[in-house]
Amino acid sequence: TSQGATLLEASKVLMQFGGLKALNEVDLSIKRGSIHGLIGPNGSGKSTMMNVLTGIYVPTAGAVSFAGAALAGRTSSDIALSGIARTFQNVQLFGEMTALQNVLVGLHHSFRSNLLDVALHLPRYLRENHQASARAFGLLRFVGLEQLAGEEARNLPYGKQRLLEIARALALDPQLLLLDEPAAGLTAPDIKELLAIIQKIREHGVTVILIEHHMDVVMSLCDTVSVLDFGQKIAEGLPAAVQADEKVIEAYLGG
Ligand code: ADP
Ligand code: MG
Repeated sequence: TSQGATLLEASKVLMQFGGLKALNEVDLSIKRGSIHGLIGPNGSGKSTMMNVLTGIYVPTAGAVSFAGAALAGRTSSDIALSGIARTFQNVQLFGEMTALQNVLVGLHHSFRSNLLDVALHLPRYLRENHQASARAFGLLRFVGLEQLAGEEARNLPYGKQRLLEIARALALDPQLLLLDEPAAGLTAPDIKELLAIIQKIREHGVTVILIEHHMDVVMSLCDTVSVLDFGQKIAEGLPAAVQADEKVIEAYLGG
């Protein structure tokens, strides 16, 4: 649990889709307590890496270990329960449920098998789970959404939907949070709010992997950055060094 120890280690991860190597022997080492940026042009393999790290994709070859245990052979819900939470590149909320209900779904630890049950019996579920709703309110407050707890998710402004997704991911009480382009489509004030929340998440001891296109966000938040291009890691290190790296500049210009 000490700061600076390795929390997640990916070694030589190969993810092949037919003839395409979406990830080509990528190594990744994430220190506990850090914010690690994962950047690269469109189609370079960033989201694929998140899908491998969360067990949605089983890599063709290579290995991932999290908190000292191998991910191989484990289901995505098992991996989530063991402490890896995520948001998606495209917002995935239950639009007709309220903000509070969306977080409650995240709190429901046997998420996969009981989701329908939660959805069908929500009023009873809410009544019987005062503790759960108190915690869900706490998470909404954490991302500044407590005033909107009763709003249907689909009626929230886009920036608030992204924050709600983060609150729902935090409901798992993760050690590691993966954020896939959380600032995409946000206005400048929304991005500022998001930055503060990500910083606060780290201050609570959660390690973060951040996929992000806005370089200013990457520069101000990330301790270290890895750059993917055509499925290969082409650079890694401190944000400023990575940004000045010629291979990185060329990858973005060539893309
Ligand atoms: P990024 O997130 O960096 O934009 P992705 O990881 O989404 O890139 O995609 C990397 C490459 O892998 C792309 O060429 C994409 O089309 C391909 N890819 C991703 N998922 C699949 C899949 N399930 N089946 C086939 N190809 C895929
Ligand atoms: Mg992507």
